[in-house]
Amino acid sequence: MRLRLYNTYTRAYEEIQQPKDRKLGVYCCGPTVYGPAHVGNFRTYVIQDSVLRLLKLLSNDVCYVRNLTDVDDKTIRGARDAQKALSDYTQHWIEVFQKDCDRLNLLPPTVEPRATATIEAQQDLIKILIQKGHAYERGGSVYFKVSSFKDYGRLSHLDARKLETQSTNSAGRSNDADEYDRDQVADFVLWKAYKPEDGDIFWNSPWGKGRPGWHIECSAMSHEYLGKTVDLHTGGVDLCFPHHENEIAQSEAAYGGPFVRHWMHIAHLKVEGQKMSKSLGNLLTLDMLQDRQYTPSAVRYALLAGHYRQPLNFTFDLLKASQVALQKIHAFSQKLAQMCNVSLEQLKSLQTTIVLPKECRFLKAFFEALCEDLNTPKALGCLFLFIRKMPTVEVPMFPLLLKEWAACLYALGIDLNEALQEEEVHVPLPVRRMAEQRWQAKLARDFKAADDIRKILEESGWKILDSKDSYKVLPL
Ligand SMILES: [Zn+2]
Repeated sequence: MRLRLYNTYTRAYEEIQQPKDRKLGVYCCGPTVYGPAHVGNFRTYVIQDSVLRLLKLLSNDVCYVRNLTDVDDKTIRGARDAQKALSDYTQHWIEVFQKDCDRLNLLPPTVEPRATATIEAQQDLIKILIQKGHAYERGGSVYFKVSSFKDYGRLSHLDARKLETQSTNSAGRSNDADEYDRDQVADFVLWKAYKPEDGDIFWNSPWGKGRPGWHIECSAMSHEYLGKTVDLHTGGVDLCFPHHENEIAQSEAAYGGPFVRHWMHIAHLKVEGQKMSKSLGNLLTLDMLQDRQYTPSAVRYALLAGHYRQPLNFTFDLLKASQVALQKIHAFSQKLAQMCNVSLEQLKSLQTTIVLPKECRFLKAFFEALCEDLNTPKALGCLFLFIRKMPTVEVPMFPLLLKEWAACLYALGIDLNEALQEEEVHVPLPVRRMAEQRWQAKLARDFKAADDIRKILEESGWKILDSKDSYKVLPL
């Protein structure tokens, strides 16, 4: 089996191939560290993690680079408002991000470079661009001369006329250099001259003191760690223009092409049918969801429920359904382990040295769906079909079945820790019965009866944890 993905650049499905003489280089535009990441950001990272897991299952040797943007307008403003040094301020948010990634069971990148740690490489790249006539200096800032790069706009399929309007209309940091004197409106900034509001945040350069633009860091960092050509470059679809277009222009103008063999873009996420925004208060973080009793593993599952090239409507109903689906997967894992005479712990340990069996016998359809443009909803459908209609399995086939099941859980990033915890807590039957009686009383709005049962349970050492439409029994 080989992984085929849609390539935004060629508009075709193409195989991701392991190069013969080096590692497969994967680059992903990482977060800007000025606050907690929200579910929209995490959709991209969870999808990228699934690709990485699949590539590993298919025996690829991967070098996975995901950068940290720790200097830009937002981080500088945030540090100033918090009256902190920029590095202290971003360090805090880097730690929050990494902790969230762990909670979502994302595999760590091979390298996670910070923009501020690669300033020299960024300056070197700018020097090459000036030397080759692709960049020019104006008032201490340096700009990329878009008209000097004939392929500009090929990734996002923009023609030159559209480019003018896109670059003037686009929001955010696409071209946030209006105050400078550019030759052409489409030209974008590589090095930003120092402004008083930057405070003590600046680096010396041949063009005076200042700081790098946002786009240049990815070109410099990918070159530093992956060389001239990246095999697979991924990111949210909103980065396609201008960020990725600018990365191509900078890298190919400086080092020659191709900069990237395969471009993968992940579609937007909506919350309850609405665009995410600060004003609507729907920039959901893992902490906000955990306060509402939704586990990170359910969030991860929900983010895999839709195909990555379609916008995903992230709803609380979807989260509830994800929690139920996960419980079913845990229960089936327990059943399977029991049937094959291994412990859940042993099944879990199978995931650490996993390579997909050459001939899949039981879950072939699941892996085929993933290999065909990472069709996660179809793969999950195949998985539940297997759970419902598991064929009779002869004893000699048990090891293969366990291996395939473990590989399937690895691909989805389900690590069985929660299943192990569920197994650890053995709740005696009378306690379970009373807890159910209490729940029924609560549903019937007989709160006095519910409260009385709760007290009896607490006296016998058990507490009840209610969520919106279910409950858990735990030891006190
Ligand atoms: Zn980038």
